[in-house]
Amino acid sequence: MPGGVSHTTRYRQPNPIYFARAEGAHKWDAEGRRYIDYKMGSASQMLGHCPPKVVEAVRRQAGQAIFTADCHELEVQWAEAVCALYPAADMVRFVGSGSEATMLALRVARAHSGRDKVLRIDGHYHGWHDHVVKGSRPGVAAVPSLGVPEAVSALMVVAPADLAAIEAALTDAAIGSVIVEASGANYGAVPLRAGFLPGIRAICDRLGRVLIFDEVITGFRWSPGGRQARDGVVPDLFTMAKILTGGLPGGGLAGRREIMALLDPRQSWGGFSPPVLHQGTFNGCQVVAAGALAALEDLSTGVPQAHADRIAAAIRDGVAGILDRRDIRGACYGESSTFHLYLGPCENGSVAGLTPAQIRGTDKKIVAALRDGLYAHGVDLMSAMSGVTSWAHSDADVAETLAAFDSALAGLKAGGMVS
Ligand code: PMP
Repeated sequence: MPGGVSHTTRYRQPNPIYFARAEGAHKWDAEGRRYIDYKMGSASQMLGHCPPKVVEAVRRQAGQAIFTADCHELEVQWAEAVCALYPAADMVRFVGSGSEATMLALRVARAHSGRDKVLRIDGHYHGWHDHVVKGSRPGVAAVPSLGVPEAVSALMVVAPADLAAIEAALTDAAIGSVIVEASGANYGAVPLRAGFLPGIRAICDRLGRVLIFDEVITGFRWSPGGRQARDGVVPDLFTMAKILTGGLPGGGLAGRREIMALLDPRQSWGGFSPPVLHQGTFNGCQVVAAGALAALEDLSTGVPQAHADRIAAAIRDGVAGILDRRDIRGACYGESSTFHLYLGPCENGSVAGLTPAQIRGTDKKIVAALRDGLYAHGVDLMSAMSGVTSWAHSDADVAETLAAFDSALAGLKAGGMVS
């Protein structure tokens, strides 16, 4: 295993920590040490680790059929549940991951619009496939990987999260669609300005472009119906994964009937039937559908989300208070059940006046030192300096976490790394 890992960002020096078990808001490493978890399966375990209802549903289904690669009743119920919660969802197609969801979204959007170029927003993350890596790091114009054909990257136009700039970029008639991370870049680490989503909806309507929301993180988290139901801004297409699947592997694309019908094998258009080809062995897997339906029973009530939001707000307030008390420049902020830490100069504990590159540009040594300080106190974050909460996190977890932050930040200050 190159680097000993299965995912680039799981690497850590001198070596990654290996985890053996998880339950609720906690996980245990191979040596038996307990951590309060704010990574939560890359934001997929919204109900906490191993929720008994989901575990039982998966166990029961595994004894019936793990996966047969056929149509089955559970996927129909699952699709109906999604359509009931999401304003934009007339139809759903299940896929194998979040990256597969954005890959299919772009193919369908290109087919519908008849135009190959796509506009994306600087730093918004849409997975790791060739079409979306350009522009995926806030403030970094270069494609961050070898092996991505320039001819593919050339089809992706990157614009800042600024309505005037987006409108100007859309004078390029070859751009047929616009994809947006519904939270702002990196689940809201770079927040969207107020009015951005309705603004981009209006621009796409006026200029005739397909609007795609990437709700891989915001789906079932910002509200049971994602960001679109919470804010009342309805995209043409949207992607889901992570929580959609009850924390099991998979994903989905949903949207307007007229566009989604391009995937219908009964349709033919331009000599193709179906107009858009889509395959994938594990799409709509039975065991995943069973777990997802069990999770949706709770997720559709909004109760888990309200709890996780309250916990995240307590962490944001607590960490901001620590920065204040210890006289460290920075901000702790975020929406919904997320928190993000920024260390550096800013005004009034807010990142509003900073560029995406500044917000995500904290010195790697400081990020690593903070991470190590938190690890030493048994706290794990999701990425650089961000985390997500779940239904399983308790007030006792918050108190322990704030003590860990206090100690880690005091260590950074004593070592002269932050001021
Ligand atoms: N879009 C967003 C907004 C994401 O956060 C992610 C994953 N972190 C993806 C797409 C890609 O999903 P996956 O890792 O399942 O391919």
